[in-house]
Amino acid sequence: MTATIRPFRIGAEWRVGGGKSITSIYAGDGSVTGTVACATARDVDDAVAVAEKAFRTAPWRKLRPDVRATTMYEIGRRITAERVPLAHLQMLDSGKPLKECQHMVDNAAYFFRYYAALCETWQNEVTSPRGEYFSMSLAEPYGVVAAITPWNSPIMAEAQKVAPALAAGNAVILKPSEETPMLALELARICTEAGLPEGLLTVLPGYGDDVGAALVKHPGVRMVSFTGGTETGRCIATVAGERLIPVGLELGGKSPHIVFEDADLDKAAAGVLSGIYGSAGQSCVAGTRLFVQKSIYRRFVDELVERTKTVRVGLPDDPQTQMGPLVSKAHRERVAGYVDLARQEGGRVLMGGDRPSDPKLANGWFYLPTIIEGLPNSARAVQEEIFGPVLVCLPFEDEADVIAQGNDTVYGLAAGMWTGDYAKAWRVARELEAGSVWINTYKQSHIATAFGGFKESGLGREKGFHGLRLYSQVKSIFFGTHDKPMGL
Ligand code: NDP
Repeated sequence: MTATIRPFRIGAEWRVGGGKSITSIYAGDGSVTGTVACATARDVDDAVAVAEKAFRTAPWRKLRPDVRATTMYEIGRRITAERVPLAHLQMLDSGKPLKECQHMVDNAAYFFRYYAALCETWQNEVTSPRGEYFSMSLAEPYGVVAAITPWNSPIMAEAQKVAPALAAGNAVILKPSEETPMLALELARICTEAGLPEGLLTVLPGYGDDVGAALVKHPGVRMVSFTGGTETGRCIATVAGERLIPVGLELGGKSPHIVFEDADLDKAAAGVLSGIYGSAGQSCVAGTRLFVQKSIYRRFVDELVERTKTVRVGLPDDPQTQMGPLVSKAHRERVAGYVDLARQEGGRVLMGGDRPSDPKLANGWFYLPTIIEGLPNSARAVQEEIFGPVLVCLPFEDEADVIAQGNDTVYGLAAGMWTGDYAKAWRVARELEAGSVWINTYKQSHIATAFGGFKESGLGREKGFHGLRLYSQVKSIFFGTHDKPMGL
């Protein structure tokens, strides 16, 4: 526990900000992890001015990309070197199990290394001439990019935005979630120590409706990259639409996870459990709506219930823990509220639906892995994002029925299926309205594979080359090659 308030930095100046300081609580036992200073809209004005100056005057955007890459590699190297303390702090900040935190820190380093490598290999397009000129299209940065992140994957979600935005030559102002501000401040420190010129990355801990909103409407911000809930994304897109600036939106999901009767049911059951209970269900791509073919429905769901009884819910620092707590007390109440709603809607809670009874977990924000059935696809608990360890099970008849039910949602972030029939897998994958589809696996992600949502799950794609494009605008340049003056 510490009583000191951790300041943030705008350019060379350390600040305590004008807002009410933010206290990070360890979800494992409710103790205080730390307190950070909170920025306000006034700090946003200053941060944008510093970022604009850094963008225009620092050589960063004009550096050869391979030279820019050296700093990016160094940031990645330093994140890896600090892997252990960063993962520990991450655990205290977010309540995630330590091994998940190590994975997130590793991924943050990979993002910097990957975008450094893209800097080295990135090519512009030269078009075949159609006259006495030649033309090319170049990627240019936008200028000041606002990056706004949620609480469920700190440092990884931040690196997913900051690394490509810097690689593309932008300056970035990052506002992390008020629930998990600590790792973003660490990332800013590491970037400075790695030699990133001052002002190119500013982290502003603060509240969404104040600092986040001020960033989105600030005239100096030229692009917004947001990850979070669909309703917040809609507000941000509305403001950005008025301002005619581009947005990248990674939003919510309610992903269908499908088990066909011809699947390897042992692997499918393991995949379904990992797809819902990983990160205690606090994952945008969690497989929350389980569709099981009617012929195997009862057997498969009963098997899931049995296996769920063996999921080890425990403290984040216990290596045996398979599922940790939820991020906050308020969030646990929200999740419990959805389970109550499911009961009122006529759902049967087959497993969980309560807090664990283990006294060691009494002071943390734990909730049991929960399985519900008996609800129609139209029920609110089936349609709305619960963002907790709550699986709803529904039967389906055949391929056409599961495609129709799976797509009957406003979301379109991800989907998964288990089947032994690869031709069917291909057909269904093409019909599902989702940005990522997993076949005989679930929740795999790849740094170089595009990620984003269909429908109300988002706009634009992160990761891979798409990630670099998101933070670049295209400029075409024409060189005249004619000897004679141009005629009218
Ligand atoms: P929120 O939408 O509540 O918040 C996300 C971020 O936006 C936070 O930093 C928040 O600040 C900020 N914010 C809130 N209001 C505004 C505003 N008016 N203007 C600008 N910024 C604002 O999401 P959560 O943090 O609760 O995260 C959970 C959500 O994120 C889920 O819906 C989940 O599906 C989604 N998500 C999507 C992912 C994807 O890749 N598609 C990945 C991970 C999560 P503050 O913390 O102060 O409220």
